[in-house]
Amino acid sequence: MHEPLAPGLYIVATPIGNLGDLSPRAADILSRADLIAAEDTRVTAKLLRHIGAERPMIPYHDHNADRVRPGLVARLAGEAIALVSDAGTPMISDPGFKLVRDARAAGANIVTLPGPCAAVAALTLAGLPTDRFFFVGFLPSKEKARLESIAEIAAIRASLVFYESGPRLGAALAALAAGLGAAREGAVAREISKRFEECVTGTLAELAARYAEDAPKGEIVVVVGPPGAAPRPQVDDLDALLRAALARLPVAKAAKEVAASTGLDRHHLYARALELKA
Ligand code: SAM
Repeated sequence: MHEPLAPGLYIVATPIGNLGDLSPRAADILSRADLIAAEDTRVTAKLLRHIGAERPMIPYHDHNADRVRPGLVARLAGEAIALVSDAGTPMISDPGFKLVRDARAAGANIVTLPGPCAAVAALTLAGLPTDRFFFVGFLPSKEKARLESIAEIAAIRASLVFYESGPRLGAALAALAAGLGAAREGAVAREISKRFEECVTGTLAELAARYAEDAPKGEIVVVVGPPGAAPRPQVDDLDALLRAALARLPVAKAAKEVAASTGLDRHHLYARALELKA
């Protein structure tokens, strides 16, 4: 018979792919919680089956959080409630911070169980500076809003971490190359901790060209190295950048976009874009 848990909110990180990454402590808390607040109860049911546990669950996600939260906070005084998201660390591009805020305001006991997080795992794979990093999360999907978001963060002197999906990767990398600079170093980490884990590195121009026509499957984190004394783009880089832009834009617009990201002459780039197109 398990000892009952002290009442309070237990924030539990869960695996981002490999179930073996669930910590023994996380498994213990999930097996003993009075209630599990789960982003998707079907996803968490699988995890509970994996550890041979069966606990009551309540959905807690962006669409019902405001309605469900007061009831959860009221129960924290007498019950142990675990908060989990579908994968990784709750609150990292996932719901939960308002629950913690309100639990804290109510004087509840709050405990965190650290564990997998795709952003941190990708940083460890990328081979880019990790002393300072800025987590961006998901960029907007509309092109104008995406370019504005990228412009806001272009000068931050840190590695940048983005969550992405396969179908949006090519357009996102082209926008990053245009907005951050073609020669900035980057990495695309995919399917971390799963069978087909990989990490592809290169300049943003190279990555944009590689993924312009090829939408990879699976879950993706993009890491971009800090701005710095980046060398001026080489001809190969420029061609890759122009090709990536030409895959989305007419010649004049492609040349304009690459001119903006590299500071090079637009007329020269237009002439080269015409050659590449031919
Ligand atoms: N809370 C999670 C965490 O701690 O990483 C992130 C949740 S967010 C809704 C989901 C995004 O995380 C995915 O779209 C992808 O960008 C990234 N992600 C999650 N698992 C991943 C994995 N195994 N490999 C690469 N990226 C992953």
